[in-house]
Amino acid sequence: MKREKKSDPERQLKIIQPVVTANKNSKKIILPGSTIGVFGSGQLGRMMALSGRAMGYRIHTFSPESHSPTGQIAEREVVATYADLDAVRDFVRAVDVVTFEFENVAAHVAQIAEEEGIPVRPGGGVLHITQQRLREKEFFRANGLPVTPFVAIHSLAELQSSLETIGYPAILKTAAFGYDGKGQVRITSPEQAASAWQSLSGQEAILESYVNYEMEISVVAARGIDGSIAHYGTIQNEHRQHILDLSISPAPIESTITTQATELACSVLEKLNVVGVLCVEMFLTTAGKLLINELAPRPHNSGHLTIDACVTSQFEQQVRAVCGLPLGSTRQLRPAAMAQLLGDLWQKGEPNWQAALTDPAVKLHLYGKQEARNGRKMGHLTVIADSTEEAVHRVLAARDALSTPF
Ligand code: ADP
Ligand code: MG
Repeated sequence: MKREKKSDPERQLKIIQPVVTANKNSKKIILPGSTIGVFGSGQLGRMMALSGRAMGYRIHTFSPESHSPTGQIAEREVVATYADLDAVRDFVRAVDVVTFEFENVAAHVAQIAEEEGIPVRPGGGVLHITQQRLREKEFFRANGLPVTPFVAIHSLAELQSSLETIGYPAILKTAAFGYDGKGQVRITSPEQAASAWQSLSGQEAILESYVNYEMEISVVAARGIDGSIAHYGTIQNEHRQHILDLSISPAPIESTITTQATELACSVLEKLNVVGVLCVEMFLTTAGKLLINELAPRPHNSGHLTIDACVTSQFEQQVRAVCGLPLGSTRQLRPAAMAQLLGDLWQKGEPNWQAALTDPAVKLHLYGKQEARNGRKMGHLTVIADSTEEAVHRVLAARDALSTPF
């Protein structure tokens, strides 16, 4: 496959159309010095909090965890369940704008903020669609956006008959609350149907055909309160055990495909009326076609490299969009690669940080998580270099060096 010669240098901010909504809060600008309330307290909230604080905002975070990655950076960490409506109400009353660092927060949280007159960005409607795979895929289908073939499944009988039409291999996924491949089973023969259905405990599910892809890519983009959109081009993603392992930007694909992918992403942001950052995960099939896999209505793992590689990181962009400020330039300074650091690296004790940082181009990001469980995202490394090949080579060498003895 031909390497794209140059990434779209400016990724021009396009004025598409004004956001049309009756809500008086829709145009409210939240100035530096104000407080951003973040539901969720993981690494995405942490990196957003770091950007927000750099710009003079105060950050409050709400989640069931204490001493969380976001809480360590925020001025205030509220520890309560999302079902604790009084705690949710008290939290939103103390902030100027509400946002989310993960979409599995129940939509009632957004509703409470709306009732309290606090702007919620992105809005509850976006959460409602994106927190459930079935609704999300139906949204793609209804809007003529290319999507992986899928069927809704509510019973074993439905699964068995749908497997005949979808074919093998297929993937059965729970409709709600899946991430990092959790709640997913691959089915390669009719005999596996019953155990696959049981393993999801009979929850509403979605059956997808297994896509033969050439590459997985993502487009991270942001939309402001004025309807302007800025995107970061295409990023190539490699997963290991369903968890993002390596991201490369720009993705080594034809510029026509990058154009198609970014146009698809912009269209998703507009059709969902998003204010904030959103990531569109796609498959580039072996036949050269783009299929949307899923959305994340927030900064995304594949966009972490924008911290070191772009004029404005996805996290600063989220702060700007959510606060109603003009979006920043997404221009990429140099080709970049990001390697994820999972808890597995701690199995034999503390990783060898000095060895990884011997290459002065290596940038280390750790999320402040106390316990290094296998498969848990603990941090990432980024390298920017003269070519994506060099960035990949150096970031992987640095990650390997983490496992060398002191
Ligand atoms: P999540 O990220 O929410 O766990 P995804 O649907 O993105 O769920 O699945 C995780 C990964 O599993 C994808 O990035 C891809 O590597 C693989 N995968 C998921 N669905 C399919 C599919 N229909 N065909 C091929 N691979 C898939
Ligand atoms: Mg995914």
